[in-house]
Amino acid sequence: MSVVKITLPDGSSRDYPLGVKGIEIAQSISEGLARNALSIEVNGEIWDLSRAINADASIKIFTWNDKGGKYAFWHSSAHLFAEALEALYPGVKFGIGPPIDNGFYYDVDLGETPFGDEELLAVEKKMLELARTNSQFVRRDVSKQEAVEYFTKKADPYKLELIDGLADGSITFYQQGNFVDLCRGPHIPSTGPIKAIKLLSVAGAYWRGNEKNKMLKRIYGITFPKQKELEEYLYMLEEAKKRDHRKLGKELELFAFSEKVGMGLPLWLPKGTILRERLEQFMRRAQIRAGYEPVVTPHIGSKQLYVTSGHYEKYGKDSFQPIKTPDESEEFLLKPMNCPHHCEIYKVKPRSYKDLPIRYAEFGTVYRYEQSGELHGLTRVRGFTQDDAHIFCRPDQVKSEFIKVIDLVLFVFKSLGFENYTAQVSLRDPENKAKYIGEDELWDRAELEIQEAADERGLKTVAVKGEAAFYGPKLDFMVKDALGRSWQLGTIQVDYQLPQRFELEYIGSDNQKHTPVMIHRAPFGSLERFIAVLIEHCAGNFPVWLAPEQIAVLPISERFNEYGQKVLDILKERDIRGFLDDRNEKIGRKIRDAEVSKVPFMLLVGEKEAFEDKVAVRKHGEGDKGVMDLSDFVATFSKDFALPS
Ligand SMILES: [Zn+2]
Ligand SMILES: [Zn+2]
Repeated sequence: MSVVKITLPDGSSRDYPLGVKGIEIAQSISEGLARNALSIEVNGEIWDLSRAINADASIKIFTWNDKGGKYAFWHSSAHLFAEALEALYPGVKFGIGPPIDNGFYYDVDLGETPFGDEELLAVEKKMLELARTNSQFVRRDVSKQEAVEYFTKKADPYKLELIDGLADGSITFYQQGNFVDLCRGPHIPSTGPIKAIKLLSVAGAYWRGNEKNKMLKRIYGITFPKQKELEEYLYMLEEAKKRDHRKLGKELELFAFSEKVGMGLPLWLPKGTILRERLEQFMRRAQIRAGYEPVVTPHIGSKQLYVTSGHYEKYGKDSFQPIKTPDESEEFLLKPMNCPHHCEIYKVKPRSYKDLPIRYAEFGTVYRYEQSGELHGLTRVRGFTQDDAHIFCRPDQVKSEFIKVIDLVLFVFKSLGFENYTAQVSLRDPENKAKYIGEDELWDRAELEIQEAADERGLKTVAVKGEAAFYGPKLDFMVKDALGRSWQLGTIQVDYQLPQRFELEYIGSDNQKHTPVMIHRAPFGSLERFIAVLIEHCAGNFPVWLAPEQIAVLPISERFNEYGQKVLDILKERDIRGFLDDRNEKIGRKIRDAEVSKVPFMLLVGEKEAFEDKVAVRKHGEGDKGVMDLSDFVATFSKDFALPS
């Protein structure tokens, strides 16, 4: 009997009979795995568990906890949706129905039939009913002719158009219950595991994304193996809506956009500016302690600067175009990167190996063109400020510099309450070394040292081959926010190219000229993006040291406004930020308003407080902290008011 050699993720391998199915491999490993298995990766491709494996293969069995498992689960849910829709609306035509990051959608042509929330609920109910029948997803190879005949009979122009673009011999159908779809798969074994279903919304979508085509209905949904998981997801969606930085940015008066100023160009309002400046102060201090030197460079640079750096060739066409001056020989570019300017600072005088490392830091505002459809709040903008720095060092200093930057990044995360983070080490593609610039030995060494640096700092990392830029390996940080969503934040990037292009040098201990290594790094990434993530992470409840307004002084009645003003003045002397609510309003109303604007401390003042020089302290989200002397209040919470260190 012939056999296939199956290699498992741990590197071990076993022989199985030719034509073994994923589900059988799962069973041979454990009953539990077989019960939870949803799909299988075979040589990098996701397959059905019921598909025969006819050659040696590396495999990985996916459950709900894997992306590949969810992918098959949601793809199968899209088919279940279509089956239910067709049962309720015979004659409905189908476009495409893929799985997405969270759930799936299906583009459908319902003609003029109205379709809203009520209809979504009815389809949801039908889906649950059909799921319970636990019908199997059956894969079948069909000839192009058979496929055309099937969908001609069904009169589905969209599927026919899709088939038209497929080669004969590559076409497969999937069937569950009475529903047949043109599909490459993969699918879960049967509909039974789909236990919780929510159809989320209906949107319009042109067939094949072309506005000349018919507008179809795009119906979004999500499914889970357990009801509880669906409930958690829906709660998360609600919470994400409440925390949306665009919504909170407006409510808390942090930033705004104006069409007159231009799309994607944020305007920082006074409160947002305080927040931003506080973050800058925090970073500046941490950087000075870590041996960085601040520099300042202009917002534009001559086109030649970016021709030298290579940015012009690479991005010139798709970005803001050169700025002309009355002198026709001159052309400038809005700064898309700070690095070239910093290279020129390095070059102002000769450097020796003893001078290195040199670390230049700048809150550098850069401008990059993004298509208007890509713009999104503060996370995708056309002008933003990087907490940028460039480290010029010797090859033997790469590791220690990485360790220092990792420490700085982790300090930032800790100070701002990001407890959940990982990092990705992006390495060369070992099969394709020729496409990378820089000496082979330098790469080998840097890749090893980046990993060592991360390990020494206890950073959880995944190494990904082929993800490095052509000019150097890098380390990217991912944080999980309070809702469990992942964001890419800071990055540390080695660069062997720019120092060559700018002919940077230092004199080594051997008295010879050498090229320094350049490291780009930005722990926040950009202030705009970081603040967006921070707003959504803390729901606008900033740590006290960062809050635009740290205290609200609330007189019980107008009689105590004068004492309230005195309290505010004293606190301002101590660099504490806040305001006096001297409106003629009931105290309950003043407290509610202060809660809504998320001010961390409320200081209530009335008869007793005014007479004894005290304040009654309430903390946002925590409530009453008691009546205390003003100086005691400052002393008790002084750590909260100060920059973290
Ligand atoms: Zn499909
Ligand atoms: Zn840079």
